[in-house]
Formats: sequence, structure tokens, C-alpha cells
Amino acid sequence: MNYEAIIGLEVHAQLLTRTKIFCSCSTEFGAPPNTHTCPVCLGMPGVLPALNRKVVDYTLRMALATNCTIARECRFARKNYFYPDLPKGYQISQYELPIAEHGHIFIAVNGKKNRIGITRIHMEEDAGKLIHIPYRPVSLVDFNRAGVPLIEIVSEPDIRTTEEAGAYLRHLRAILRYLEICDGNMEEGSFRCDANVSLRPVGADTFGTRTELKNMNSFKHVENALAHEIRRQQAVIEDGGEVLQETRLWDPDKGVTVPMRGKEEAHDYRYFPDPDLLPLVIDDEWIEEIRSTLPELPDDKRQRFIETYGIPPYDAQLLTGSRALADYFEACVRDFPEPKTVSNWIMGGILAMLKAENKTIQQSPVSTERLAELLRLIDSGVISGKIAKIVFDEMVSSGKPPETIVQEKGLVQITDTDAIAEVVKQVLTDHAKEVSDYKAGKMKLLGFFVGQVMKATRGKANPKLVNEILKKMIPDT
Ligand code: ADP
Ligand code: MG
Ligand code: ZN
Repeated sequence: MNYEAIIGLEVHAQLLTRTKIFCSCSTEFGAPPNTHTCPVCLGMPGVLPALNRKVVDYTLRMALATNCTIARECRFARKNYFYPDLPKGYQISQYELPIAEHGHIFIAVNGKKNRIGITRIHMEEDAGKLIHIPYRPVSLVDFNRAGVPLIEIVSEPDIRTTEEAGAYLRHLRAILRYLEICDGNMEEGSFRCDANVSLRPVGADTFGTRTELKNMNSFKHVENALAHEIRRQQAVIEDGGEVLQETRLWDPDKGVTVPMRGKEEAHDYRYFPDPDLLPLVIDDEWIEEIRSTLPELPDDKRQRFIETYGIPPYDAQLLTGSRALADYFEACVRDFPEPKTVSNWIMGGILAMLKAENKTIQQSPVSTERLAELLRLIDSGVISGKIAKIVFDEMVSSGKPPETIVQEKGLVQITDTDAIAEVVKQVLTDHAKEVSDYKAGKMKLLGFFVGQVMKATRGKANPKLVNEILKKMIPDT
């Protein structure tokens, strides 16, 4: 029997506000333990939380960007459980009345567009962080993170493959980054994902029992964990067994998911409205104020790039991966108005170089002006495309302008026909055997001669001229 996977994702995104959600402690990462704390985020008796307006602003940005319906009145709720990283014994979250519901985004996998529903987005506070001391029965707790604002984004079970799950997560993260409300760093935990997955026979219209996967801290982990879990569930079903509803942990070293807790051990959180916080009322004015500050989002930008620059969808998708990269492309096109050429150089040259140098586009050692200068040198025939690659590498390592490098290294392309003919003559004299083979019909050897000429000129001869001159001179040799 053929099975299809049903996947729903829960994403926690840490918001980039300066202060925490219910107190004025700093959210700055990496401070000494417990230095960003106060009676409110430490859960001392008698304190009162005060909602940070920026948290609502940021959540509204995401809600609008994902086409959600915004609740005019929503509530905070207490989610009760005991754990040493949770000083109050409850987490302030939202339950029955979240700030936003019924949204969607579109993803594209292998050219196929898919609508993925967003069930809800709600605001909540983060917990502290436990630090376990190796080989000692001791754990330390750092409350700097307690009270840092999060939004949870819950998807509908609309995802069908691991590739779609990856595409959905990447798109969600791109939107958060475009909105500048989350840095999207999965390794540092500012963008976390729990994955729910079940199987059903292809064509069935009900869902099977799901498991929930945790502990994935990269996109690759999420995709690998899902792939493993789909295989595991399929094996269980084919053995005549039953998939149990449980939470499983991804073990990246062993490449397997292992049971963490079953349905029986699932928490009963005894949610109830937080009596310390008033219902949150959001009026049209507030929503419109936020809407008016939204930037152009990835989907719109991609579409505009395809239409106004005439570049392929693949290029547009890649170039709009981040706002900074898209800005880089547009700045370069303003200086050198051949979009596809610019795109090729960014995708091939710049991105590969940034990866090798472990730098972001903002830190690129080659500015947009310099890249445009290089492209003009190729365009006007001063250097060949091949030499341009050498110049580019030199621009990266020395930071010099392309003209300077071309001058200093004597890389100007040889377009002087007499000079090229001189070299061609020498090559033909040195390779008499190949010349007679060529004349006897081994036409493939033309490439060999071109190669020899390019070698002798250290790549500087204009390849088109070399070809022409060779074809003219060989018959007379
Ligand atoms: P919980 O709070 O227990 O995690 P939710 O109702 O918030 O439960 O759902 C969590 C996620 O599980 C959602 O993203 C939803 O789309 C997904 N989901 C629900 N049912 C299934 C299923 N049968 N198979 C796969 N995913 C599912
Ligand atoms: Mg869950
Ligand atoms: Zn505090």
C-alpha cells in the first residue's frame, strides 16, 4: 500500500524587542547569567506584569504578513506546569483567544505552488535556561531568557513532504527577517520548530495518529527527523502494529527519533485566563498603522523581480532570499543595467565567495559599485569573462578596484589581430603533427589549438579572434 505523510509544524520565533514582554529587563543575548532579571520575570510574589506594546506591534506585523484575521479582543492565559526553568510555575501564553487566526502562506516546491494554512499565531513568554553540569548531580538555571517575547505560529496539517516542510520553514523565516522582528537563528534557538507527523493510505480522507518531534535545531535536522519518522511509522503499520500518539526526540548523532513521553504522560496545563492582565483590545487604527509600515514581502519582491528585470523565477527566488541580498542586486543593476548578467555574477561569484569567506552579503568585500565596474570591463571587451574571474578573486583578497588590478597585472585582453596571429603561428609550428591530423579530418583538434594559444597568452587573447585566426591560418600551414 502507498502512504502519504501529513505534517503540521509549530514554530516558536523569538521577537527582537529591546525589552522583555512583561517587564523592562533587557533581552540582549549572551549577558552573564541572571543579570537581566527583576522581580517580575523572576516570579516574585505580588508583582504585576505590564504588556510591552512593541510585542503586539511585532506580532501584528507577522499576522498581517501571513494573511491572518486579527482578533479585536484577545486574552493572555496561564499555562501551568512545574519545571525549574519556569519561576512562576506557569507560563503566560494565549489559549482560547489568540491574537491571530486563519492565515496562510504560499510555498513552491519543484515549481508547484502550495497554500499552507496558518491555524493561529499567539504571543507568549520564554522560559529560563537550564545548564546541566557534566558528571555532577547539579543543574544551574539562568533566567535572562525568562520573559523574552515569543510568537508561536501553528500551521494546519497541510504539509505533505519533508521538502515542503523545509520550504515552509524557510519561507516563514524569510518573512520574519523581512519584517525585522526575529533574527531567525535556529542554532541559537531564536527560531524553533516542533513537527507533527502522521501517515495515511493515499486517497484516505481521515488522518492517522500523529507523533510530535522535538529537538531539531537546523532545517536539515527537521527534514532528516521527518524522513526518519515517516519511515519508522510506515514500518510499524506494515508490521501490523499501531502508531502511538507520543512526543519523540530527534537524536541527530544516531539519526533516529526516540520516545520521550506518551499520551498518558501528556501535561494537563489547566489553562485559565490570566487575572493580572486585561483583555487586549486592538482597534482598526492600530492595525492600519502597522499595515502602513510593512515592507515589500518576499513573494511580492520575487514577482516584481521576474516582471521588471525579466530574470528567471529561479534567480528571483534566490535573490529575494533576504532583503539585503535583494537590495544588493538592485543596487548593482542600477549601475550596470543588465539584470541577468548581474544575477549570474551574484549567484555564481558573490554567493560562492561569501560562503567560502563565511561572510554575509552586508559584509561582502566586493561592493555593488565594484561589481558593476568589473562587469563594465567585460562588457567593453577590456577583459574576457575568464580573466574577470581572476580579477574577481583578486578584488576579494586585496580589496582593490578592478581597473587597478587589470593595470597592475597586465590583464588587458589582447584584441590586436597581429599579436594573436604571431602566437598562433608559433603554436602551429610547435604542433606540426596535430596540424596534419587536423587537415586529415580530426576537426576536434581546433579546441586543442585554441587552448594552446590561450595558454601562451595566459588567457588574455580574445577567444573569438583566436578561433577566427586559427581557421584562417591552418590551411596555409
Ligand atoms: P498540541 O497543542 O497538542 O501540539 P495542536 O492542536 O496545537 O496540538 O496541533 C499541533 C500541530 O499538529 C498543528 O500544526 C497541526 O496542524 C498538527 N496536526 C494535527 N493533527 C495532525 C495529524 N493527524 N497529523 C499530522 N499533524 C497533525
Ligand atoms: Mg504541540
Ligand atoms: Zn524582568
